[in-house]
Amino acid sequence: MIKGLAILGSTGSIGVNAVQVASALKDSYRIVALSTHTRVEEVLQQARQYKPGLIGITGIDLSSNPKLNDSTRKWLESGDCDLLEGPASLTTIVERNDVDTVVLAVVGASGMKAALRTVELGKTLALANKESLVVAGELIMAAALKSGAKILPIDSEHSAVLQCLACGSKLEVSRVILTASGGPFRTSSIETLRNATSATALKHPTWQMGRKITVDSATLFNKAFELIEAAWLFDLLASQLEVVVHPQSIVHSLVEFVDGSTMAQLSTPDMRTPIQFALTHPTRVAAARTPIDLASLSTLTFEKPDFERFPSIELGFATIKRKGTCGAVLNAANEVAVEAFLADRIRLGTIFDVVRSVFDSHDFVQTPTMDDLLRVDRWARQAASTMIERG
Ligand code: MG
Repeated sequence: MIKGLAILGSTGSIGVNAVQVASALKDSYRIVALSTHTRVEEVLQQARQYKPGLIGITGIDLSSNPKLNDSTRKWLESGDCDLLEGPASLTTIVERNDVDTVVLAVVGASGMKAALRTVELGKTLALANKESLVVAGELIMAAALKSGAKILPIDSEHSAVLQCLACGSKLEVSRVILTASGGPFRTSSIETLRNATSATALKHPTWQMGRKITVDSATLFNKAFELIEAAWLFDLLASQLEVVVHPQSIVHSLVEFVDGSTMAQLSTPDMRTPIQFALTHPTRVAAARTPIDLASLSTLTFEKPDFERFPSIELGFATIKRKGTCGAVLNAANEVAVEAFLADRIRLGTIFDVVRSVFDSHDFVQTPTMDDLLRVDRWARQAASTMIERG
């Protein structure tokens, strides 16, 4: 049976790859919906090529968009493709009857409601938007358990963990070790790191990604979020999780079992590999990817992360231990700080200061509802903005 696939955030780095991978899996999937935040021309280009029948545009009001040319307007009016506008279009798309599987590749907490709705409906969620688990992991996992929905990670580390976990039972797992490339400041002094601007932070050594996640990789907040994501996805305690810095990005993560055996997943850094595995799980399908060549790699190195230069990791562990509203605050404060950093309003070190300060001063709720999470999210954004404005 051919499944209907919605790719939300189809014009971003993961989304573009997901469209490519899905179109190569045409015996299993038909792309029925695509969405973008603001890249209207790109999503229309994809729509012309892949004919999804429906597109969502979450961040631009098309009626007042002067960028849209006449031929595009005519094509949209022809009726070949329906158009949804506004942030709510994501949940409308996942609720459609012809959508069986959702690739969620939007940026930030904006994907949270769509993630929750997908699993409430028992549909398969191929998840690249780790923020939705960071913010609402408890609600999303409970909903998936109730409906029987599958959540398959697209994040390369979590895809690796999923593959390694297949080598034993849950009770036989002693530790899950996430690898981190270390980002562009792996060997920098604390002063260089703290004074860095967006120009240097955006130069990631091994992965080509969107701007927000590239900054998160430079601060290791991305790794903090991935620890939280792994704790929810695989039901792990903070004491079962570890991070190791592995600059070559060949080993994507490891699982250690109680008998002392450790399984690792290795592949060249290419996001199409974990995207495809999420879409074909539990089977594997042949794909034209470059396999690793161990002899030419010759050296794979591993080192301990520096918790002093990267306080983000510790905040990630604190969130796993306390749960509740911690993830929502961590994510919201970071989103605001990263935005200010990308606009060159603050230096890299200020991201840590803002996030820690907002995190430490929030009114904690242990069992938040979605409304609590949204309220805390708004509060944390406001608190982070105020801190940044006051310098
Ligand atoms: Mg990752």
